[in-house]
Amino acid sequence: MIIGSGPAAWTAAIYAARANLRPLVYEGELSREMIPGGQLMYTTEVENYPGFVGGVSGPHLMDKLREQALGFGTRVEQENIASVDLGRHPFRLKPSYGDEIEALAVIVATGARANWLGVPNEERLAQMGGGVSACAVCDGALPAFRDKVVAVVGGGDSAMEESLYLTKFAREVRLIHRRDEFRASKIMADRVRNHPKIKPVWNSRVAEVLGDDAIAGIRLENTVTHEMSNMDVGGLFVAIGHTPNTAFLGGQVDLTPHGYIRTPKAWRTVTSVDGVFAAGDVMDDYYRQAITAAGTGCMAALEAERWLAHHGLGESPVLETAEAPVRLTREWEAP
Ligand code: FAD
Ligand code: NAP
Repeated sequence: MIIGSGPAAWTAAIYAARANLRPLVYEGELSREMIPGGQLMYTTEVENYPGFVGGVSGPHLMDKLREQALGFGTRVEQENIASVDLGRHPFRLKPSYGDEIEALAVIVATGARANWLGVPNEERLAQMGGGVSACAVCDGALPAFRDKVVAVVGGGDSAMEESLYLTKFAREVRLIHRRDEFRASKIMADRVRNHPKIKPVWNSRVAEVLGDDAIAGIRLENTVTHEMSNMDVGGLFVAIGHTPNTAFLGGQVDLTPHGYIRTPKAWRTVTSVDGVFAAGDVMDDYYRQAITAAGTGCMAALEAERWLAHHGLGESPVLETAEAPVRLTREWEAP
């Protein structure tokens, strides 16, 4: 079973299907917070996914990954997995509407969602490529932002990183924070304070994004005086944290302090539950890129295949050369 539908899930499905593991993907439902296909459904041009000279549209890339997985016999259900029972084997997974299903191995690839401000026009302009983004590394180099004054919202390390990155392209970066001190680590905050192109805007919150087809500016509220003002900007980057999609796991898989699935062994995707693997942004608070999600999806499928073989549950032979599957403390009784 593969849960999710971003680059990690479809890459895992391609590898699992080609290994005759008969993967079943639960790709999720359309909701206000998530789209089947994952975060790239929110973006226009992806310029840094290898193999696409001149870029590729996010939705088109996701269509192609899905099609490739289906071409090898991957089965798909368009539902969320609402809850899981990982305390016994086979694992039991409950979709939102359908009957409970059993799985011999599970790959969790449910991603993380960028937190948005939730102010008027923000979501609409983000979805239509109108100059609002939650990923400077992804979108900052686009021609629309070059030599413009752009705004970044947030006061944590992500906001510092996004601001510093944007100085490569933008004329000026206005860093808008709701308080008068950064939450970010000292070293990152110092870099920002000392950068000639970055201007902090303290005690301010974005109340509205202005513009019809593209951002024209932002409406700001001073959080101390409550005075309102407009600021002309050619881009808005929201960097107020991410929320990994792990609530449905009900605390049965160990998480990091920031809520990401913990993968305790370096270069492995095994989680605290033997037979459950994690890939993509749901286990990665550091790289958070489509190609790294796809890479860990590949790793999870190969690891699941070897794990199943080791337990006599798949068609694949046990590889003599491969290290035995990682064994952790919280494991069920192997069959
Ligand atoms: P996601 O893409 O997050 O997809 C996970 C999906 O799983 C969810 O959308 C949902 O449909 C499904 N799901 C979640 N919970 C459940 C459940 N319980 N049951 C069933 N299904 C579920 N990266 C780049 O490399 N280049 C870029 O240009 C780029 N641009 C970006 C632009 C934007 C606006 C954003 C927000 C991100 C961008 N990124 C980019 C980052 C990239 O999108 C992510 O790193 C990548 O999509 C992570 O893939 P993933 O497979 O881990 O999960
Ligand atoms: P974070 O540390 O939680 O910071 C989020 C920031 O956004 C805070 O400053 C917060 O303001 C602000 N914020 C939250 N909700 C807001 C809202 N609705 N409106 C306006 N502002 C809002 O998140 P993060 O920056 O993504 O970092 C997450 C973790 O990853 C941290 O541990 C961080 O150190 C790590 N990280 C490290 C690096 C690095 O080392 N290079 C880079 C990125 C992330 P308040 O301060 O007022 O709460």
